[in-house]
Amino acid sequence: MEKQFKKETICIQSGWKPKKGEPRVLPIYQSTTFKYETSEQMGKLFDLEESGYFYTRLQNPTNDFVAQKICELEGGVAAMLTSSGQAANYYAVFNICEAGGHVIMSSTVYGGTFNLLTVTMKKMGITCTVIDPDCSEEELNAAFQENTKCVLAETIANPALVVLDIEKFAKAAHAHQVPLIIDNTFATPINCNPFEWGADIVTHSTTKYMDGHAMSVGGAIVDSGNFDWEAAGDKFPGLTTPDDSYHGVTYTKQFGKGAYITKATVQLMRDLGSIQAPQNAFLLNVGLETLPLRMERHCANAQAVAEFLEKHEKVAWVNYPGLKSNKYYALAQKYLPKGSCGVISFGLKGGRAAAEKMMDKLSLAAIVTHVADARTCVLHPASHTHRQMTDEQLLEAGVAPDLIRFSVGIEHVDDIIADLEQALESV
Ligand SMILES: *Cc1c(COP(=O)(O)O)cnc(C)c1O
Repeated sequence: MEKQFKKETICIQSGWKPKKGEPRVLPIYQSTTFKYETSEQMGKLFDLEESGYFYTRLQNPTNDFVAQKICELEGGVAAMLTSSGQAANYYAVFNICEAGGHVIMSSTVYGGTFNLLTVTMKKMGITCTVIDPDCSEEELNAAFQENTKCVLAETIANPALVVLDIEKFAKAAHAHQVPLIIDNTFATPINCNPFEWGADIVTHSTTKYMDGHAMSVGGAIVDSGNFDWEAAGDKFPGLTTPDDSYHGVTYTKQFGKGAYITKATVQLMRDLGSIQAPQNAFLLNVGLETLPLRMERHCANAQAVAEFLEKHEKVAWVNYPGLKSNKYYALAQKYLPKGSCGVISFGLKGGRAAAEKMMDKLSLAAIVTHVADARTCVLHPASHTHRQMTDEQLLEAGVAPDLIRFSVGIEHVDDIIADLEQALESV
């Protein structure tokens, strides 16, 4: 066993480890295909009898070195990159839940995930029960059905900033013999490792803090290796019974703890094809190198901005898990002791109209459909990302119509506060 390094070291040193004479920096394997010497060698790859690269739609070395780094950061056994966070959540669920299956999902998940599960996957015959993340254990347990295949929630909800009681969710999921899938995008593995609290699968939109510079859209899925698919009886036949598309391979038998990620790679990636471009994986890797430094600064800056806003006379409310007044302060102390994230939400006494006016006056903080990158940015979810939702769904998702999502960057905090101060003067 290699020595397990601390996260700062993993971010710099893990993944690509060059041998004598090889490039110091992770190369971009800008190649769709890979060469073999005999027809038999290639045949074995297609039968999953040997592992090796043959076509970038399934696997690419650049991607795999970056996935390896993310895997180590989360403390998992296997990981893969996807073309986006959307693809990561889609694959994570669809890998174990087919037509006729059922998912339990937190109501405060990202708008894209909400649509994916409640609209698009519904068309595939997968049903979803949406549940308040603050529900009691009894309410949570009551949501399970015979055909429930997984539970899905976010460590820190985007943009409601609800901190999940991961242990409560893991306990309920395991009592019903299904895995807990946690989207850990906002916390990042620097601030929280959901596996330590009982989560089985972790997903990421690497587009956010991991890339960190708003350069490339991407996603990742990590498996803890802890969930026993076979012990759950016949709940997960896709993993525990032969796959006809590979001459009867049974993933749990042939790949052990690698079963879940292997199936998602050789079956879903093969057939659905949401591979991350190696160029993007290269950029993601550069982002990962500084993730711990950036997260520390994002959190320190956001804490100061949240405290400034909380004291401001024109501000009606501030939501940031680092504030003592926050509903999730205690949960954040437990699950996110190093800090939560750089995202704050707040509302103005002047409501929605004042929010729009104030946002137009900001100069350093740009209005962009993005969050969680180095540059401070701002968004009004009710008119942007969550536009498709009804008022009722907005409230269920924890998104008030006047909610301003403020993503604090890593500029000097005095400049960020000064920008807010001048913009607030206009309302
Ligand atoms: C952005 C986001 C997603 C979707 O990721 P994309 O990379 O934009 O596809 C999923 N979950 C969370 C929590 C997000 O913030």
